[in-house]
Amino acid sequence: MPRPRLSRSRLMAVGAVVVASTAAVAVSTTAGAFGPKQQAQHAIKDGKAKNVILLIGDGMGDSEITLARDYTVGAAGRLNMDKFPLTGAYTTYAVHADGTPDYVTDSAASGTGWATGVKTVNGRISKTPGTDKAVPTILELAQKGGYATGSVSTAELTDATPAVLASHATDRSCQGPADMAKCPTDTISKGGPGSIAEQSVNHKVDVLLGGGKQRFDQKVTDGKYKGLTVTEQAQKLGYQVVTDDRSLKAVKGDKPVLGLFAPGNVPTEWTGKPAALGGTDPQRCLTSNPNRPAGTPDLADQTTKAIQLLEAKQKHKNGNKKGFFLQVEGASIDKQDHSADPCGQIGETAAFDRAVKVARAYAAKHPDTLVVTTADHGHTSQIVPLEAQPPGLTSTLITDEGQQLKVNYSTNTPGQSQEHTGVQVRIAAQGPQAYRVLGVTDQTDLFTTVREALRLR
Ligand code: MG
Ligand code: ZN
Repeated sequence: MPRPRLSRSRLMAVGAVVVASTAAVAVSTTAGAFGPKQQAQHAIKDGKAKNVILLIGDGMGDSEITLARDYTVGAAGRLNMDKFPLTGAYTTYAVHADGTPDYVTDSAASGTGWATGVKTVNGRISKTPGTDKAVPTILELAQKGGYATGSVSTAELTDATPAVLASHATDRSCQGPADMAKCPTDTISKGGPGSIAEQSVNHKVDVLLGGGKQRFDQKVTDGKYKGLTVTEQAQKLGYQVVTDDRSLKAVKGDKPVLGLFAPGNVPTEWTGKPAALGGTDPQRCLTSNPNRPAGTPDLADQTTKAIQLLEAKQKHKNGNKKGFFLQVEGASIDKQDHSADPCGQIGETAAFDRAVKVARAYAAKHPDTLVVTTADHGHTSQIVPLEAQPPGLTSTLITDEGQQLKVNYSTNTPGQSQEHTGVQVRIAAQGPQAYRVLGVTDQTDLFTTVREALRLR
């Protein structure tokens, strides 16, 4: 079991504020009556959380947040994710097999960091860097502790970020039974747990919503479910399977739910011209996508439904004594950053921000909910001066404020996938134990924050 990495001095400093704030919490709930110091003290709550909602913007560094803010609500505006009372930054580096730092992480290693508290090599899913051994995840611990659990993503459900919660794989590419080339010891025929898709449904996560239907349509090659598709395996395990907005809305009860809303990643909400060498003409983004089928649920609606289903589940499971752990991923902020597509990227950031709004609205009515919003790593997009002529790909956008804004993508050769960066990223939170995000922490500390909030052992 990994140990918490909080330093003694930091815990003691925080402890002092918690004591001071207890009285303030009892006196008033009107933040407006307080100055910034009182508001910060007021926001610091110790004690146990009943529920945790963790929202991960994949690749959502400070540049990506600022770009979405500038374009949608204006430079002086504030997104929902800007409204958390407590904000810090965390470091995201991965490690090499020998434990030395690898300064730029991917979503598999970073996800393993926040989901297990252990840093690993790029590409690895919740297994150790050198010895390739499975490490318990925060979702597994929550299940063991009697909590209802859920995971929602705009990527394939077998993509790295959701994968780190309910599977262990040598390589992130081992998404379905036909994709096992890089995970020779994880196959069922070798006594392993099988692909990420198989493991995710075997874990009986109560709510799994996202893309990646193609992985679940693959046939299981060995073991108890041999010859069935992973979707059929899920149904045997009691899952109700839904594939569009209407069937998602209709589903109810306490049986687990598997939602597969696209063959691969869920198509983006917005479209526009990708960045180009020498720039684009000034453009407005299209807030629609002709390639996104009608009936594709958006991330905020999926989050709302996931919370409803988890609440029903926890009543059934433990008489409502324990709550839920829910992870929500805005996956294609990252993917559109890789493609140097600013409109796709901003639309996905805005969609993610609406999911943050859903989580915060739930927490407003259920203050025993810890809500954390963060990223798994930084990314390539930069806002540069209009007169700048940087060597890479650029696009000029016309913001809702009527101003021009120039975005640059220069972390790889034009034509290649633009790359992640090694920057620290924002982490913001509210609710019990949220103070743990303050200051500069490491990604692995987020595991401890959730574990302490839910009192998991
Ligand atoms: Mg991801
Ligand atoms: Zn990426």
